[in-house]
Amino acid sequence: MTEINRSTPRAGARDLPRPSGRALALAYLAACLLPLALAAGRHVAPAHPWEAAAAALGLVALSGMAVQFFTSGRFETVSGRLGIDKVMAFHKIAAWGLLLALLLHPVFYVIPTWTESRTLGIERLIAYHTSPHYRSGIVALAALVLLVPTAFLRDRLPWRYELWRATHLLLGLTAVGAGLHHALTVGRFSAGGALAGLWWGAAGAIVLVMAVLYGWRWARLHRHPWHLQSVTRLADRTWELDIQPGESTPQMDYKAGQFVWMTEGRGRFPLLDHPFSIADSPARPGLSLIVKEAGDFTNRAGQLAPGTPIGIDGPHGSFTLEHRDADALLLIAGGAGIGPIMGLLRDLVARRDRRPVRLAYAVGQPGNLACLEEIEAAKDVIDLEVMLLSEADAPGFTGEVGRLDPARLDRLLGDLARGRTLALICGPGPMITGVSDALIGLGMPLDMVEYERFDYRGALASRRDRRRIYRFLGLFAVLAAAIVLAVPILS
Ligand SMILES: Cc1cc2nc3c(=O)[nH]c(=O)nc-3n(C[C@H](O)[C@H](O)[C@H](O)COP(=O)(O)OP(=O)(O)OC[C@H]3O[C@@H](n4cnc5c(N)ncnc54)[C@H](O)[C@@H]3O)c2cc1C
Repeated sequence: MTEINRSTPRAGARDLPRPSGRALALAYLAACLLPLALAAGRHVAPAHPWEAAAAALGLVALSGMAVQFFTSGRFETVSGRLGIDKVMAFHKIAAWGLLLALLLHPVFYVIPTWTESRTLGIERLIAYHTSPHYRSGIVALAALVLLVPTAFLRDRLPWRYELWRATHLLLGLTAVGAGLHHALTVGRFSAGGALAGLWWGAAGAIVLVMAVLYGWRWARLHRHPWHLQSVTRLADRTWELDIQPGESTPQMDYKAGQFVWMTEGRGRFPLLDHPFSIADSPARPGLSLIVKEAGDFTNRAGQLAPGTPIGIDGPHGSFTLEHRDADALLLIAGGAGIGPIMGLLRDLVARRDRRPVRLAYAVGQPGNLACLEEIEAAKDVIDLEVMLLSEADAPGFTGEVGRLDPARLDRLLGDLARGRTLALICGPGPMITGVSDALIGLGMPLDMVEYERFDYRGALASRRDRRRIYRFLGLFAVLAAAIVLAVPILS
């Protein structure tokens, strides 16, 4: 086991350009509505209002499909300020909206015929779906019909995560590529002029995204390798990896609580990387990751040999204390969620933060508790009170047995001012939902309860999530209203 030196100071974290949520929402509306604005300026043969609505729906959805490549959680400029949780929730909801829009796109075209003769309407709908003329549109729709449900059902599919991820990418590229071909070849408004230029620009942007993610980043992982210094067993199936930069690799500027995408071995291909929180303070050179065994990649963490080349892409994420005004901190970790919480705690210790810090750390079995000695030692440096919880009891365990319920949270908060305490929660999805709702129920403002999920499944569950969803739906309502308003102009 290698002793980790936590004393070497280093430069502060670099501030990346991170647009606000409002700026990103406006950019999203602008990107989706630009094709409508360009179509409104084109002179084409008059059409039935339903056909104009179908065209408008297709134009907005095609642009929205291209934007999905930027909201995939891989761009710090997009997800840096909002957090990967929020960006992934948006990505998922927008995907359902796009699927609905593209399913309705051919249906709207046949409504005028269908209202005159149902038989003719159905014949026309079948023709749209079988004619070689519309083949690329059907390919786009088929790819989307496969892509969205397979993402929704991912955990129930008997596929490895990496296979699903590759399939997801290929289906996304097929959907947008075929959709662009369809617009450029059969679109009434897209055949030429500025709109055709926009679609070629969108295609170029997607090629650039692919080149950056899987070309430039891959090359960077190889040009600036890291290596595994040591692996330490912290608890049952839980390992701490100490990763240090290679000779040609600069130290990483990050903020405590952020995460990196990590790959190991000679290949280090970004499509195979995994996200892990940095369980470290930027005050220490290198990175520590606390990895809990959860599947094929993490199960091998304990067997990785020192010296193994590591690819690190980061930092990412907004689960940090930066730009947060609070008089006290409530850190809550569940299971593997101890990773970023240790990062925050280690940084508070390194900075000798003077604010009261309350830490709750909950696990299934006492044997899963990690870093207990270090947590205990932190009490000598900062104003820290700790509540350890385990669902199951075991001989020698002195913490509380049970879950982190509202009564325990109330006790942990004690006399801290609820409106001035910032809670940072990381753990399993159901725990995050339960604890964040309970804290809001105990009087903490919604904006003072932050969390980071380790999987994107339960992203619609908590009160905070639901507030997000209403905001997203508001955005989609604006797009729907714009389509309705565009109909008289386009018909
Ligand atoms: C922002 C973030 C920070 C994380 N930090 C930590 C940490 O500090 N410590 C820790 O132990 N775990 C962390 N995780 C979870 C960790 O990434 C997964 O446990 C790991 O990727 C599982 O990979 P696997 O091959 O072992 O298991 P698999 O069986 O392949 O996957 C198990 C589950 O992990 C998730 N997952 C797998 N691969 C990926 C991927 N490439 N991208 C996103 N999700 C994936 C999926 O939900 C999947 O169902 C974090 C996850 C996220 C999103």
